[in-house]
Amino acid sequence: MLIDTYGRVATDLRVSLTDRCNLRCTYCMPEEGLQWLAKPDLLTDDEIVRLVDVAVTSLGIREVRFTGGEPLLRPGLAGIVERVAALDPRPRTSLTTNGIGLRRTAAALKAAGLDRVNVSLDTLRPDVFKTLTRRDRHRDVLDGLLAARDAGLTPVKVNAVLMPGLNADEAPDLLAWAIEHDYELRFIEQMPLDAQHGWKREGMVTAVDILASLRTRFALAPEPSEERGSAPAERWIVGGGPHRVGVIASVTRPFCAACDRTRLTADGQIRTCLFATEETDLRAALRSGAPDEEIARVWRQAMWGKKAGSGLDDPSFLQPDRPMSAIGG
Ligand code: SAM
Ligand code: SF4
Repeated sequence: MLIDTYGRVATDLRVSLTDRCNLRCTYCMPEEGLQWLAKPDLLTDDEIVRLVDVAVTSLGIREVRFTGGEPLLRPGLAGIVERVAALDPRPRTSLTTNGIGLRRTAAALKAAGLDRVNVSLDTLRPDVFKTLTRRDRHRDVLDGLLAARDAGLTPVKVNAVLMPGLNADEAPDLLAWAIEHDYELRFIEQMPLDAQHGWKREGMVTAVDILASLRTRFALAPEPSEERGSAPAERWIVGGGPHRVGVIASVTRPFCAACDRTRLTADGQIRTCLFATEETDLRAALRSGAPDEEIARVWRQAMWGKKAGSGLDDPSFLQPDRPMSAIGG
């Protein structure tokens, strides 16, 4: 098991497949992009599958989510999914993506063994999409979402970040649209993980703001807490059901005490938390020829050192060096 000193057990592994991206969301990356990781530093497909294999067979990981950067930019994605889905015990598999390219790849990913997708879409307005992501690809994301649903990558979840002055007024429209298309919508509070360090607590749209905005048009009843488990999203039943909406209040109502995650970056570093300032180098262990038991030991030791919380509310809080896109969100 991957257990820490607070008794939390990690069963959910987030694997970043690349730090590159074809969008430039303002809350994530600067316009000019970032200094991408060098190819030799990236884990190869074989190395990724080997590490996930150790996590699943020796460390109790039950859920593997591929992310990035933009994971659909990884050429070997379908092959990695196929090999991970063939592990015993088979983990649940999912992908967090901006949806561009999903129209072409959804069916093949489903056939490879992918169970679900989370697609990020912050706005229904093409002009706002272009301002927010600095790319004119709104239609591609909508098409990707439809393809995911048609391919059976369900439930299709949609992640939305609201930004003041841009899309902060869109919460009810996004929910009406998600219900119409049978997508499960989750709002994520903006976190201080952008490469430009532009986040300001005073400037963010909070869970309270989001819920107040939704309640102008929808009746929301809290989902019974036993259904939440360790899921980060607090969910509400919309208008008596069956549809739900989630809010991930990572900043204003952190869920660190129930965290069940461990993360692997595209260059083979374990992170125990999005906000961790320390990493553990699994790639070095792997490339020095360490056997599976040694890799598992290093991973367990890293998790044992997991901090109690994100530290966001501490006066001494420091944003991690790596931005979200290089950690794997
Ligand atoms: N490129 C893929 C995508 O956008 O879905 C996967 C990686 S992205 C880093 C994962 C998620 O993190 C997305 O839903 C994105 O909206 C969210 N995200 C990125 N920067 C964020 C920030 N500063 N605060 C909150 N969420 C953020
Ligand atoms: Fe790319 Fe995702 Fe970051 Fe947007 S949030 S720039 S899609 S990695």
